[in-house]
Amino acid sequence: MSETAAQTESGVVAASVRGLTKRFGTRVVLDELDLDIKAGEFVALIGRSGSGKSTLLRALAGLDHDVSGELAVTKPVAVAFQEPRLVPWKRVLDNVTLGLRDTNPRRVAVAALEEVGLTERISAWPLTLSGGEAQRVSLARALVRHPALLLLDEPFSALDALTRISMHRLVLRLWQRHKPAVLLVTHDVDEALALADRVLVLGDGQIAHSSAIDVARPRDRDHPTLTALRLRLLSELGVPAAESAS
Ligand code: ADP
Ligand code: MG
Repeated sequence: MSETAAQTESGVVAASVRGLTKRFGTRVVLDELDLDIKAGEFVALIGRSGSGKSTLLRALAGLDHDVSGELAVTKPVAVAFQEPRLVPWKRVLDNVTLGLRDTNPRRVAVAALEEVGLTERISAWPLTLSGGEAQRVSLARALVRHPALLLLDEPFSALDALTRISMHRLVLRLWQRHKPAVLLVTHDVDEALALADRVLVLGDGQIAHSSAIDVARPRDRDHPTLTALRLRLLSELGVPAAESAS
């Protein structure tokens, strides 16, 4: 595997992947996968459970070196997972500054916690946080690293519907302000349609489908373009139209 800074003639890309292959034993999960993410682009990745979404994300995050192919990612890269993975014996602020190399880690952490609306919970213990608050800490922890590429692995799927909507707004706001490239893994087609510039479908170990979403934000769920795209994506996921009517 070769890892280099991701520069192309057409400008900076956040990630460029060629022929990425990952096997678990004899099982090929990623099969010569190609992927490009532009600087500042918001990409959603959907796919059935077990299709290899987390596997791809772990490879992009540099957490899995047992892969073959070419992988060029612009650093720094930050990751947030479905479980916020906070250290329970460290207060919120110390979870955000953990491992942070900065001349004034406390200052940047306080600013990031303010951005995610958690100023009042700075000294709280992780176990006293709601699911939404814990995910906000996880986002703040990603943010203080000034990522060029922000990888999100189903970060909202354990949250209730209302909290999820406010997290969607927060993520869009943070993205618009800081402009990292984002790769959001989700199994929720509507989440992908609400947030992303482009939706990718992972199937048979490759990017089986890619759709640009040319609808201004904030998006009306019932916009005809989104309704058509929803059906298209559900059919790419193998969900028949009758099942998807809700
Ligand atoms: P997704 O995130 O799309 O649900 P994953 O990337 O987690 O899928 O997993 C893809 C496939 O790889 C699944 O079939 C899963 O069982 C398999 N897999 C993931 N991690 C391991 C592992 N550490 N050992 C063996 N198989 C694994
Ligand atoms: Mg997964």
